[in-house]
Formats: sequence, C-alpha cells, structure tokens
Amino acid sequence: MTHVVTLIPGDGTGPEIVEATRRAIDATGVDIRWDMQDIGVAAIEKHGTPFPQVALDSVRRNTVALKGPLTTELGTGFRSVNVALRKEFDLYANLRPTRTYKGVRAPLGNVDIVIVRENIEDLYAGIEFDIGTPELAEVRAVIERTAHTRIREDAAIAIKYISEMGSRRIVRFAFEYARDNGRRKVTAVHKANIMKFADGLFLRIAREVAAEYPTIEFEDRIVDNMCMQLVQKPDLYDVLVLPNLYGDIVSDLAAGLVGGLGVAPGANIGEGVAVFEAIHGSAPKYAGQNKVNPMALMLAGVLMLRYLGERDAGDRLDRAIADVVAEGKDVTYDLKAVRDDPTAVGTKEFADAVIRRMARD
Ligand code: NAD
Repeated sequence: MTHVVTLIPGDGTGPEIVEATRRAIDATGVDIRWDMQDIGVAAIEKHGTPFPQVALDSVRRNTVALKGPLTTELGTGFRSVNVALRKEFDLYANLRPTRTYKGVRAPLGNVDIVIVRENIEDLYAGIEFDIGTPELAEVRAVIERTAHTRIREDAAIAIKYISEMGSRRIVRFAFEYARDNGRRKVTAVHKANIMKFADGLFLRIAREVAAEYPTIEFEDRIVDNMCMQLVQKPDLYDVLVLPNLYGDIVSDLAAGLVGGLGVAPGANIGEGVAVFEAIHGSAPKYAGQNKVNPMALMLAGVLMLRYLGERDAGDRLDRAIADVVAEGKDVTYDLKAVRDDPTAVGTKEFADAVIRRMARD
C-alpha cells in the first residue's frame, strides 16, 4: 500500500534533518509518496505567507505530515507557525515518548515514559488581558464581583480554562495509546487540590474515562510531586496525561532526564490528522553545515510509521537508530563524549549508518 505523506522541510537545519529522515524511512521499504510543502520562512519566500493554503490543503488531504523545525520569530503577525498549525487542524494531543538510549549521556539510568499533553486549552489558549487596557478593567470588574476577590490594579490577567470535552478526549487518547502499545498504567497529573474547578474537572473526567479501561491501571499525582518523583523514581511511571501547561513543563523535564531535546521526538495528533516532528528547534546557527543530529526527527519518523500501521518498519528503524547510537562511532558531535571530537560524523553520514544497520537487521 502506498502512503502519501506531506513533507515539510522547515528552515534552519530543518531541510538537512528532514532529508536524512526521509532517506532512513524510505530504506525501511515502506512505500511512501512524499508531498513536499513549505510552511514558515521558506513559504514566505515562495508564497508571500508563512501559512500557504496549498500546504494546508496538502496536510488536510494526506492527513499525515512529517515536519522539520520552523523558526518562530517571523515578525509576520503569527505568534508561532507551530501553534497555528496545531490550531488549524485541532491537533489536541501532543505525544512525547521519552526513553533512555544507550550511548546518549543522561543523568538517569532507565527511563521509558510516554507523555500525553493536551495541546489546545489551559493557560496556553492565549486568553490574556494586558495591563492598562479597558478590556482588563472589564474582566477585573467581573472577577471581583463574581469571585469576591480583589485583583491589584497593576496586575495583568491570563485565563485558564479546561473543558469536559477537551479533558475527555485527551485522557481517552492516553488510554487508547496505552492499550494499543502494551502499556500498563496511566497517571493523570494535576493540581486539583488548589484549582478545584479547572483541575478538579480534569481529574474527575480522568477517573470517569479510566473506568472504561479496567485492564489498565490508573492513578493520579499532583504536578509538583510528579516532578520530584520523575527525578527520583522515573521507573514507577508509564503513560502520563496532563493539561497543556503542566504537559509543556513536565515533558521538557522528562526530555532532560534522557539526555535533552536533541533525542526527543513528538507528534501532534487530532481527529484523523497527525503531524510528526522533533522537539528541538531549527538550530539556525548550524544551517547548511551537515552537522546536527537527525535522531529526534528519525524517532518521530518511527512514531509516524507506527501511526500508519507500519509497526514492523517502525520497530526496525527504532532498533537501527538505537544500535548506531549505542555503538557511538557514526554519531554526530552532540553524542560524542567530547563535543569537538574529530571522529563525529555529519547529519547525512548518521543517516547512512542507520540505513546500513537496517540492511543488516
Ligand atoms: P534549538 O533547539 O533550535 O537550538 C538550541 C541549540 O540546541 C542549538 O544551538 C544546538 O546547539 C542544539 N541543537 C538543537 N537541535 C539539535 C540537533 N538536532 N542536533 C544537535 N544539536 C542541536 O532552539 P532555539 O535556538 O531556541 O530555537 C531556534 C528556532 O527554532 C526558534 O525560532 C524557535 O522558535 C524555533 N523552534 C521551533 C520548534 C518547532 O518547529 N517545533 C521547536 C522549538 C523551537
């Protein structure tokens, strides 16, 4: 079966790591037709907008995209093209598997946690009122009248909202992921002891959804305690499900535990549309130097293959990446013990090593 996938090279070092990843995915033998599209800086040059309709139509049509990093500071009125993409396709689930790979320097031993972050709601929705504006004065007046509390005149306000629908679909996503990937436990993370209504709602819905999956263990943790536990005993945890802001912070904490953003893949998934990417940015200072590590995007490619139903190919690519990194010979500078190690290979050569390894598998 031929899969058609939208390929977004991105900018900065994006095109190099995307090309390396595309070659590695093609080497699995899965039949993919790549529909190349520009979004972000590259699109401005060609289409006069960072968000061209032709690219959006391609993602909508193909329903699966693999995306290189996009530089955010465009000065075009878009706060972030990445956030805009998530909103356009209602990509409500941010999936971040976090695993220790032998050969990657990491502060902790054995981590294998999957983080499921709600991607649309919460403080991240961007509902804010700036200091000194008439809108802020109106909102403050309503809050003071209805919540019987005083807010200082020199305060700005950001609104956090969490809905039943948003909570239900993200917790359900976490349980479905756990079930489909042989995971044993889901932990809901919140601060319901303080935010009794917003986080309380998230926790209540999480418990309701958990009851639909009796074969998967369920528990909850308060977010501050979760952070400490992740550092002290990460092996106790399996799949975590979190509202947007906690998910943002905890997923970076978890990435730090396994060696940083350079090795962390991610996926943004909605109803029938999924965009796979690395967590790191476009590292523009290394653009065009065949230097940076394509591993995170390749691991996103592993997630994509599994999402496409090509589980065996995904597993083979995952094993090949793990083997090359464990061996530590054909790896990029960031995976060497000393950063200026002259034996470090480039982006392209790392991909070559992964492809060679798959051929031997
Ligand atoms: P960055 O992740 O691009 O780079 C920070 C540093 O991390 C780099 O200088 C480099 O030393 C290292 N690094 C990053 N990726 C690496 C790789 N694959 N291999 C080896 N080393 C790597 O972060 P930044 O400099 O804060 O962001 C640059 C741009 O990327 C910004 O415009 C930012 O908004 C954007 N960004 C995009 C995404 C995305 O598209 N999903 C995510 C994060 C940041």
